[in-house]
Amino acid sequence: MYYKSTRDSSLQVTSAAAIAQGISADGGLFIPSEIPTITMDELKALADMSYAERANIVFGKFLTDFTPEEISYCTSNAYSTKNFETENIAELTKAFDNANILELWHGPTCAFKDMALQILPYLLTTSLKKNGEDKKVVILVATSGDTGKAALEGFKDVEGTEIMVFYPDHGVSSMQKRQMATQEGGNVGVCAIEGNFDDCQNGVKMIFTDNAVKEKLAKAGKMFSSANSINWGRLAPQIVYYVSAYAEMAKKGEIQFGDVINVVVPTGNFGNILAAYYAKNMGVPIGKLICASNINKVLTDFIETGIYDRNRDFYATCSPSMDILISSNLERLLYILTGGDDAQIREWFGKLSKEGKYEVTDEIKAKLQADFVGGFCDDAETKKTIHDFKEKYGYTCDTHTAVAVKVYLDYIAKTGDTTKTLIASTASPYKFSASVLEAIEGQASAADEYEQVAHLAEVSGLPVPQSLAELKNKPVRFSEVITKETMESYVLKKLGIEA
Ligand SMILES: *Cc1c(COP(=O)(O)O)cnc(C)c1O
Repeated sequence: MYYKSTRDSSLQVTSAAAIAQGISADGGLFIPSEIPTITMDELKALADMSYAERANIVFGKFLTDFTPEEISYCTSNAYSTKNFETENIAELTKAFDNANILELWHGPTCAFKDMALQILPYLLTTSLKKNGEDKKVVILVATSGDTGKAALEGFKDVEGTEIMVFYPDHGVSSMQKRQMATQEGGNVGVCAIEGNFDDCQNGVKMIFTDNAVKEKLAKAGKMFSSANSINWGRLAPQIVYYVSAYAEMAKKGEIQFGDVINVVVPTGNFGNILAAYYAKNMGVPIGKLICASNINKVLTDFIETGIYDRNRDFYATCSPSMDILISSNLERLLYILTGGDDAQIREWFGKLSKEGKYEVTDEIKAKLQADFVGGFCDDAETKKTIHDFKEKYGYTCDTHTAVAVKVYLDYIAKTGDTTKTLIASTASPYKFSASVLEAIEGQASAADEYEQVAHLAEVSGLPVPQSLAELKNKPVRFSEVITKETMESYVLKKLGIEA
């Protein structure tokens, strides 16, 4: 197996090269040349394995240039109780009727990004070694909250790497800001930008693509890489938990091996749900993939009409990690659905960057609708769902998970589908304490983020994740705020390349 680019099918690189580069030089995303299969016997065998062992099986099929020793070095370091609060790593809980919730937020930063960002540093450093690359890697991240913290925790004190994270000064929650400002580690940097998330992202992109900066870095023995979800090293780890969850559901007697399940995913950049699509196409019996959006419902509209149109108002919602109008990983899905038609992808994504809009053919739309169902809900419905769900089932979910629950409830009301269903839960309710408390109690709370956490503990009865409980006593290490114009000089100064 090799990896090609969604914009150039003739490209052939190893998975190690794809992971080290992050994005293809032609602007396309790396994609495996074929989707490997997993048999029912292999799925059955997973039932008795640990999460790290299950990950070895799945990675072995995608990272074919890695040795088994290299893979198990990565998985055993990432997926242990050193980093995760539960032995199972991904926790399958019984929720209600025909649905199970898959809690993906027991890692160090309490969001599902940890599932990939705990292992990415190991995959990346192993890839560099395999490629014979001896430069030190500098990871630059622009974040609207969850990715930045998860990347910092993943790369903290990882030898041969440095990481710098930029976030919009007024664009993250107080808990998210606190998490980043107190980050530990000798190779980390965090800086707020006077501006919005787009300013951070544009700034990072400009530094990435500036050849003069690249040269200066190379002279200093360093190179840039990326930790965002366009990197295949972030997507592959997400396939693991869907494969694992199927085996777990059978092990717990929720289904029999061979039964079909549906999967619901609260979606932003389309990475998480694309991983479920890969699991399905490997042979895991998955029926419908239900794509849940908040009011920024560009994907719901796309699945319904075949027209992707980002020319619309952008809303800041109570599920901020899904406030996104360009879902990058959709490019990978469309590449697969067109049978690898790179010219077609170049045309559509060229239109997207020029006009903000493209329309797929009826044939592609039909293929899309065969696998995917789209749905959305607004903030009022999200909060009502948190409230009602807790009342009825005693389960407290975060705002992103609530969007998935609501879209699932709408789907079964409409279709009467009784297929067993897996709902991906992407964040701990504690990470969004203010909105969750407001939903449960019907009014906004004036308390600070720590009082809110303590209060939510009383209301929900859930243990407070240790990493959030410890925050209060950690000193603030990073409080710098800079303008977007000075990002480049900030980076060069921090790297000791320029005074
Ligand atoms: C990133 C994130 C999402 C969206 O995931 P995608 O892979 O971008 O679709 C959903 N919920 C939470 C809590 C997140 O942090």
